[in-house]
This record gives sequence, C-alpha cells and structure tokens, in this order.
Amino acid sequence: MRVLVFSDIHANLTALESVLSDAGEFDAAWCLGDVVGYGPDPNECIDRIRLLPNLTCIVGNHDAAVLELIETEAFNHEAKKVIYWTQSALTDASFHFLRQLPQKVVIDNITLVHGSPRQPVWEYLLDSQTAGENFRYFDTDFCFVGHTHLPSLFYLEDGENQPFVSLISAGQSFQLIPRSILNPGSVGQPRDRDPRASYAIFDTETLRWESHRVGYDILSVQERMRIAGLPHRHIQRLAGGW
Ligand code: ZN
Repeated sequence: MRVLVFSDIHANLTALESVLSDAGEFDAAWCLGDVVGYGPDPNECIDRIRLLPNLTCIVGNHDAAVLELIETEAFNHEAKKVIYWTQSALTDASFHFLRQLPQKVVIDNITLVHGSPRQPVWEYLLDSQTAGENFRYFDTDFCFVGHTHLPSLFYLEDGENQPFVSLISAGQSFQLIPRSILNPGSVGQPRDRDPRASYAIFDTETLRWESHRVGYDILSVQERMRIAGLPHRHIQRLAGGW
C-alpha cells in the first residue's frame, strides 16, 4: 500500500493542493495533525482532506486549542490570535470533523501521533535525549509524528538507548529499519529554512520512505492572510520557511 504521510497543513490550502498533485496516486492518507492554525484556509483544508482515500487524521495541538480541549495560555500571543480567528471562521461541519479526531492511532506496526508517543498532543521530538525516552512509549516497529515541522528520523540501534537523529533532506529515500520515529515535515508551515511544502510517501510492503518537497504559490497565501488580518510575522515566515 502506498501511503501519503503528511502533517501540519496549518490551513494552507495552496501548499496542500501542491502536495496532492505532486504525490500522484496513493491508497491511504495519514495526516499527523494541525490541520488548522496559522493559515487562512481552515475549512477548505478540512474539506479537501476529507475527500482523500482511506484518511486517518490525528488531532494536533492547534486543532485541540481551537476546540478548547487545551489551554491557549501555552501559545504565544500571535498563535493565540490565530486560534481565535480560526474559531470564528470554522463552520459547524469543520468543528465536527476536528472534534472526532483521535490522539493516537495504531495501524499494523505503526503508531501515529502528532507530538510524541509519550505526550501525543504536546511534546516536541527535537533531540536524541527526548526521542530516546519516547521509544519506551510505543511498542510498534515505527512511530510517525509531526509537530516540529522538521523532516526527521530517529533510529534506535539494536541494544542502544540513545537514538541516532538525522534531518531528512528533500528527495531522500530509504528503507525503514525497526525501530524508528519518522517525521514527514510540514505541508503548510515548514521550519527548516526551505519554504517548500514537505511530505513523505511510505510503502507498507517495502517499508520504503520517500521524502518530498514541492514549491507552491506562497504569495497567494500571504495575500489571503493579509486580507484575513492574520499576524504579520506569520505572513513573513512562510516565504523564508522559518
Ligand atoms: Zn504545527
């Protein structure tokens, strides 16, 4: 089965459309959370992913904040502003979609979460120490996460506690070896100084992971953000990928 693994769309429909046309045919779509937040197209992104074949979607921290399932106090001033804007923009159908999203799903030998297996909604896996601790919190061969917006791999060598960490660059393709934690990067808000949308294609038979980047019309998204009155810094950062 060919699976589209993607995360952190953050209400950026133009980036999402680019990913979907670049990805080609796939049998299932696994979205690792944060469908909304930051961007100007929350309803449009929800409507678009609902049409994807065999969609599994996890709740992210921005989705949970919009639903008031977690405190917005933990968000910075600008992120909070966007959460309120998103609440005012969402349709009833979009709220309903977000409300039914699970925090964790296991499909065969893969665990899907937004943040980490230990704290599915909130924890960031950015370093080998934190990732190492998290290997105790899932018992499948692989765990796919989002949240940091950095395409990355944490790989645990046999008998080792401290995983090997690597950032994955565009176009890299490799076969997954148990046990590892993978992050496909962010569709709508990349943060590795490459502003192109990031996603992965995973083959469940061959265990091959392909990392992809695709450009999109950033200016058009920035324009919609301006019209919506979204924070200036968020508009700027899209072009730089930070
Ligand atoms: Zn995010």
